[in-house]
Amino acid sequence: MRDSNLKICLVDQGIIAQGTSLKTTGKLNYLQELIYSNLVSKYSFEVAKLYLESQKLAIKAVKDIIDQEQIDCNFEQVSSFVFTNKEDEVDKIKEEKKILESLFIKVNEHKNIPLNLNSLYAISVNDTAIFHPYKYLTKLKKLCKESNVEMYEKTKITDIKKVNDKYICKSNNYSIKAKKVILACHYPYFLRPFLLPLKTYIEKSYICAANTVDYYKNTFITSSLPCKSLRYHKSDKNYIIFLNGSHNICNNLNYTKNFEQLISEAKQIGINPEYIWSNDDLMTPDRIPYIGKIQKGNSDLLLATGFNTWGMTNGTLAGMILSDIILGRKNKFEDMVDPLRVNNFKYLNGYLLNISSNIKSYVQNYVYKNKQWYTPCVKFESRNGKSIAIYKEKGNEYIVYNKCPHLGCSLIFNEIEKTWDCPCHASRFNLEGKCIKGPSNYNISYKEKN
Ligand SMILES: Cc1cc2nc3c(=O)[nH]c(=O)nc-3n(C[C@H](O)[C@H](O)[C@H](O)COP(=O)(O)OP(=O)(O)OC[C@H]3O[C@@H](n4cnc5c(N)ncnc54)[C@H](O)[C@@H]3O)c2cc1C
Repeated sequence: MRDSNLKICLVDQGIIAQGTSLKTTGKLNYLQELIYSNLVSKYSFEVAKLYLESQKLAIKAVKDIIDQEQIDCNFEQVSSFVFTNKEDEVDKIKEEKKILESLFIKVNEHKNIPLNLNSLYAISVNDTAIFHPYKYLTKLKKLCKESNVEMYEKTKITDIKKVNDKYICKSNNYSIKAKKVILACHYPYFLRPFLLPLKTYIEKSYICAANTVDYYKNTFITSSLPCKSLRYHKSDKNYIIFLNGSHNICNNLNYTKNFEQLISEAKQIGINPEYIWSNDDLMTPDRIPYIGKIQKGNSDLLLATGFNTWGMTNGTLAGMILSDIILGRKNKFEDMVDPLRVNNFKYLNGYLLNISSNIKSYVQNYVYKNKQWYTPCVKFESRNGKSIAIYKEKGNEYIVYNKCPHLGCSLIFNEIEKTWDCPCHASRFNLEGKCIKGPSNYNISYKEKN
């Protein structure tokens, strides 16, 4: 795209590179839990092969960019492990190994893995990597600026409409006219006809970073939920980045307990968290992302999301596919990730699960208003006929409307990160009620009527 004559404009509601991508574990990895057995059993060997090829290509693309542009972003080639401590998972990992070997990947077997991560069986591959996504993306942003890409930060797009042959993208103060639009905003809310809530669910995870004297050049992840994932990060100090616990955002709503669990598990493996945070990603029923056209035959409105917690590779893949679509070139992965693909009936369960968890979270919200998750520092009451929430801290009082403007779910107070979180589609608001993460388009700040 850099060499095309297209006039490109990048718009972000916050600061570019500070969304979900800022808070990942930063692995560039094609050994993604048990993805290949899943794709073979539900689609075909050919799809598994194509997916593997796409992930390897994305890792190579990141490495090439880093080398070419000399980006200092802690890129390191490492081995990546998938492990389990459950008897019934061992055969599944062995099956994954078999499939990978038939795709000419060298796979190693292990019983024990470092630290006190209980493991019965593990496999690893050698040609994967870790990096620092924020440093990488910040340099890409600089390169875009130098290539005259216009950038508008702190500019939230609240509506997109097609007028004649142009899209009008509206923000609070301005409108941007564009011939082609890419929605790479994690959870696009604009897509009513696309029914994203039924085609995805949101997975939330809890992560910490702890200082360590050790440094292993490996990454680890469990083959199934509950997820444990680990990598090392070298800077002025050595860190372990440890993820413990992932769940559908509609369940496990006691965030304080989930963070406590993270800290307790971290201590069990001998590390003492210095930083803790949560992050979430969009999951699709078949674990393949949604990249491409969202209306049949219309290559002017494009989507990139549903990265299934592997957005470092899948986001890169999205860049390659979408630029090919825009420049009218055929891309061999386009059909695999087509957002309009019809999943075969074997994925029906996934859709039913999304629908039922959406319904469950609405009912829970409307009937109980998430009361079971109220914490002592938060008070809920009704004012002027509206449900409000009040948080008190150090003599300050923060008042917000207790309703997510996206679809009306009542909110949960995240005591650890000090945010109001929507348990339906993961919108987040700061203490003052400012929306810091979509799909909500609006703030929930309460204003007293005179
Ligand atoms: C715990 C966890 C660990 C992970 N670890 C890994 C890993 O090790 N390796 C890996 O490959 N992947 C990993 N992932 C997945 C990866 O982090 C995500 O898939 C990826 O960051 C998503 O990128 P994105 O561009 O879709 O979203 P984002 O990075 O959130 O970018 C979207 C941008 O859109 C902007 N935006 C949103 N709405 C609007 C609007 N209305 N107007 C204007 N701008 C808007 C936001 O401000 C944001 O900057 C992990 C995910 C999680 C949850």
